Amino acid sequence: MWRCGGCGYLHEGSEPPERCPKCGAPREKFAAVPADEAQLIERSRLTNSLHMELHRLLRMVDELAGRGIEDHLDPPCVDIFTRAKEEAELLQRMIRAEIRSHVGKGKWG
Ligand SMILES: [Zn+2]
Repeated sequence: MWRCGGCGYLHEGSEPPERCPKCGAPREKFAAVPADEAQLIERSRLTNSLHMELHRLLRMVDELAGRGIEDHLDPPCVDIFTRAKEEAELLQRMIRAEIRSHVGKGKWG
């Protein structure tokens, strides 16, 4: 795994690319990512994608619950929708914070 010194783009392969596809930096700007760091990035990809998928689903819960609250059939229904919306919002914030911390620790690729 190789990282562009210009923009942080990660390239997988035995050699760095001719030019960075993201920022156009030449091959010399690429440095090999240490094996332990590369392993952490690989390992974190699954978790990060699970977080992102869960975040997407929670956004749907948030939206559905909002529609239920607007519909306002009766108080017990509104209670459920309100709780679902609150929990979905909380979990989305937690996921965003977690992903942000992964990025900070280099657990992203
Ligand atoms: Zn680059």
